[in-house]
Amino acid sequence: MAKQDDIFKNVVSHAKEYGYIFPSSEIYDGLSAVYDYAQNGVELKKNIREYWWQSMVQMHENIVGLDAAILMHPTTWKASGHVDAFNDPLIDNKDSKKRYRADVLIEDYAEKLNQKAQKEIDKARERFGASFDEEQYKTTNPRVMEYLSKKKEILERMARSLETENLADVKALIEELEIACPESGSKNWTDVKQFNLMFGTKLGASAENAMDLYLRPETAQGIFVNFLNVQKTGRMKIPFGIAQTGKAFRNEIVARQFIFRMREFEQMEMQFFVKPGEEMKWYEYWKTTRLNWHLSLGLGKSNYRFHDHEKLAHYANAAADIEFNFPFGFKELEGIHSRTDFDLKAHEQHSGKKIQYFDNETNESYTPYVVETSVGLDRMFLAVFSNSLKEEVLEDGSERVVLSLPAALAPIKAAVLPLVKKDGLPELAKEILKKLRLDYNVMYEEKDTIGKRYRRMDAIGTPFCITVDHDSLNDNSVTLRYRDTMEQKRVNIDELAQIIDKEVNMKYLFEQL
Ligand code: ATP
Repeated sequence: MAKQDDIFKNVVSHAKEYGYIFPSSEIYDGLSAVYDYAQNGVELKKNIREYWWQSMVQMHENIVGLDAAILMHPTTWKASGHVDAFNDPLIDNKDSKKRYRADVLIEDYAEKLNQKAQKEIDKARERFGASFDEEQYKTTNPRVMEYLSKKKEILERMARSLETENLADVKALIEELEIACPESGSKNWTDVKQFNLMFGTKLGASAENAMDLYLRPETAQGIFVNFLNVQKTGRMKIPFGIAQTGKAFRNEIVARQFIFRMREFEQMEMQFFVKPGEEMKWYEYWKTTRLNWHLSLGLGKSNYRFHDHEKLAHYANAAADIEFNFPFGFKELEGIHSRTDFDLKAHEQHSGKKIQYFDNETNESYTPYVVETSVGLDRMFLAVFSNSLKEEVLEDGSERVVLSLPAALAPIKAAVLPLVKKDGLPELAKEILKKLRLDYNVMYEEKDTIGKRYRRMDAIGTPFCITVDHDSLNDNSVTLRYRDTMEQKRVNIDELAQIIDKEVNMKYLFEQL
């Protein structure tokens, strides 16, 4: 655990030191669970957003984009169920005065049982080698079976209690499992209470006439209320999707995991409208498609897993998370939900406007079903960033820190470095810079020794360094250094753009999808 904590601390400090993420309003000691994206962070974030957007909107002819406002009519949130049911069950520890999400405490306990089972499975795999059958082992080994069935029993009981609002039983479960406060080790808990996560605000100048509004807690509702507008003006035929990225706000109870759980964050959501009865087919389709999108970034297949929900939200008939192996363990990165016709029907009822789709081929009208894919941009950032940060020991025993970001997402694609600040080398370097920057973010750096400049670019995650030396003036060639392998190649200046493009252009990632 200590090691995990250290890795996570490194991630947070590296993000600050190399201009990726700063605490919000830091000169006033920051604002809890709110962060600013710095000069490199904003580029990485933009590239992740772009990769998502293009894979949705550009690569699917039946998906279009939208940018709805953050402020929406307050009835939206009544219809969506957020006013009545967007609650988290919270519990306080009386000794440490720390506040927790009761469901997260229980889920963490269940995950520990899962890890114990996994440890046994890993040991057995080592013992039995190639002939090992994991499924058979899980269903026959008494110890593994006990861990897994206890985990299932706990999660099912929690799901039932939350479903029926039996908060006393949620507390009873915490007590029976003897869950202690992670800060103080105390088991002295308050009762479990519901807490609404929406931020309220006011619209209007005078106190009497002001209208109570909410900052949107999800981007999805902006899509639902525009369903007919988009369908009619875009002449969209079912099945079709609407994609949107944008800020969402939640007054999270526990927000202590850097950008994993923020109070102001960004979502990338796509709502796919389908014919009723076909939703499970599309649900499976989007589960596979979204996992492939993640895998295309090359962060390692074993770092992802699906988690099918035992407790379904009030609007869903199936739901799964894609979980990622963050520095603090496997946690939700993306949600894929079959939302039925709940949202469109609810908005129809609350607005009094008919929200239906007329199918020209069958001559009938119906309320479409919806399959949603929803991924947090900030969580995606954390997944990419934390997975890429590595400390390496080199052959000569020295160490280097490298941020091996997927090249297509890197903030700066190449750094042009004149070996010395004289003899016409800066001039040639700037000429190269001028050409390459027509396509990508490229930077110029002439300060410090070349070795120091390489290390700095490694730490920022720049995939290429281009070094201009005295020979360059005569042979029109430069040294191209690859970040991950540190390989150095002599290449002609005229070939640079093409070589770099092969590595950094998103289109090569799209080809794998
Ligand atoms: P969690 O269970 O972790 O609170 P959720 O199930 O409430 O998440 P959704 O409502 O399904 O999350 O939102 C979709 C996605 O938005 C999540 O998969 C996550 O990536 C992102 N997200 C949700 N809440 C936050 C937050 N507070 N900070 C950053 N990202 C978030």
